[in-house]
Amino acid sequence: MVVEERNDFIREIIRDDLKTNKYHGRVHTRFPPEPNGYLHIGHAKSINLNYGIAKEFNGKFNLRFDDTNPETEEQEYVDSIIEDVKWLGADFEDRVFFASDYFEQMYEWAVQLIKKGKAYVCDLSAEEVSRTRGTLTEPGIESPYRNRSVEENLDLFERMRKGEFPSGSKTLRAKIDMAHPNLNMRDPIMYRIIHAPHHRQGTKWCIYPTYDWAHGLEDSIEGITHSICTLEFENHRPLYDWFLDELGIYHPQQIEFARLNLTYTVLSKRKLLQLVQEKYVTGWDDPRMPTIAGLRRRGYTPTSIKTFCDKIGVSKKDSIIDVALLEWSIRDELNKTAQRAMAVLRPLKIVLTNYPEGTVEYLPAVNNPEDPTTGTRLVPFSRELYIETDDFREVPPPKYYRLYPGNEVRLRYAYIIKCENVVKDTNGNIVELHCTYDPETKSGTPTADKKKVKSTIHWVSAPHAIDAEVRLYDRLFNKDNPDETDVGQTFLDNINPHSLEVLHSCKLEPMLKDAKLGDRFQFERLGYFCVDSKDSIPSRLVFNRIVTLKDTWAKIEQRLKVIDQV
Ligand code: ATP
Ligand code: MG
Repeated sequence: MVVEERNDFIREIIRDDLKTNKYHGRVHTRFPPEPNGYLHIGHAKSINLNYGIAKEFNGKFNLRFDDTNPETEEQEYVDSIIEDVKWLGADFEDRVFFASDYFEQMYEWAVQLIKKGKAYVCDLSAEEVSRTRGTLTEPGIESPYRNRSVEENLDLFERMRKGEFPSGSKTLRAKIDMAHPNLNMRDPIMYRIIHAPHHRQGTKWCIYPTYDWAHGLEDSIEGITHSICTLEFENHRPLYDWFLDELGIYHPQQIEFARLNLTYTVLSKRKLLQLVQEKYVTGWDDPRMPTIAGLRRRGYTPTSIKTFCDKIGVSKKDSIIDVALLEWSIRDELNKTAQRAMAVLRPLKIVLTNYPEGTVEYLPAVNNPEDPTTGTRLVPFSRELYIETDDFREVPPPKYYRLYPGNEVRLRYAYIIKCENVVKDTNGNIVELHCTYDPETKSGTPTADKKKVKSTIHWVSAPHAIDAEVRLYDRLFNKDNPDETDVGQTFLDNINPHSLEVLHSCKLEPMLKDAKLGDRFQFERLGYFCVDSKDSIPSRLVFNRIVTLKDTWAKIEQRLKVIDQV
């Protein structure tokens, strides 16, 4: 299989390491989520990077759960993460690991540091520890417990593990330097006491390692070569290195890249959890969510997400990516692959008064103009049809070329029709239109173009139509940066109240009755749609709009150039 060669600063580092034989020619990456939420599109960037590198350099890729905090982690999240990583196509083979399986080894290494005089048990509260840490301009204050003897530390640490002390009453801290210019090096906490059951370890442990202490050890145990993480860990790297060097164990290299930020959404698990818990959305897989589960249900494909990740690339500079680029990636793919169909979302009935009653014609319609091998299908045409309410105006505004009394339009794949009469109920609401068709203008016949009309609209034969519910999604937030708020407001104040519109009486061409869960279509003139994988049933189809047809790509390309230049 041909792997496309990509270039970025991380791949350059790896190529150099391969040249100098730094890891004996090995490349081994990992994706280390904490199972405290569902994965989102930012995680996809990290997965695409880590897995892409492993594949490109004939290396290995691990999925590792960084499950070191029992209070926020759950099996549901573990299961969803495995499903999502697999769906994205990142093959970890049989290498699913859990940091919690390394707790015993980590404990032994902590004992080793205590014996070396490099770690001590501290009785300060978490709040006192952070208060005595100092600032960028002032050194921290040494803990009064800093100079406990090795014996006392070993005894206390063992009793911490045994559960003799209440939650939060003691910590194990590394003994480094309270005046270190990097605050992360000022005697950082390695273990906290948390009396809470762990989703895999049960009540076996009541001391839990911090990220800083655990992460390098996990990488080391698994023989990771390049430990790729986001920029906020850059000033944690000296600590990552310090722990591994003090222990004298195998030492992977930490490399940082800029995390993904996306307009009109939030990518913090805490905020996504809040949206779910407070029911602003229907769940983690709500099609408006930037989660992998949400994007999948919305109709995104793994390949479109990969295209997006490849397009945005990897850099060391923070930027915000226009969500329109993500939308472009699925639109561009579905333009090439999606079956076309006719669907009327807001139906207006028309009767062709000069069309013979009881007659049905089957007219050929193109399945996908971008892929001639897909051929045509036959669409039933009859005397009673539905068109979009919006394709008719009783009083046309200027430059309106669609249907209005006395005007002619072409029905796609069929005939030119003329609106003759508007039928209203006693309240003056339009009930249906009476039109005539011109039999000589049938599409595909020599006389089809004998008249010129300015507009072609789609339609569905009324007696053949199948009913469906269609859900139209818009952006979940009104602001490109939802975190930009007025004083006293939160990101929740920027929620778009019109992010979902549900249409209950849509009319679809009959071919769509065989659509299976997850199938994707282009509804002509309307956008790309997929069968909702959760709520759709054969007797009642539910479609999600993935994206509209409107392409703002040109504008985006401009913006990407700007991003490249900074
Ligand atoms: P939080 O939302 O609390 O910051 P997190 O998203 O960092 O959590 P983790 O489970 O720790 O959650 O992330 C797993 C991996 O995904 C980490 O290596 C992290 O660097 C990466 N990652 C997380 N968010 C992004 C993002 N927006 N862009 C790129 N990578 C990300
Ligand atoms: Mg994190």
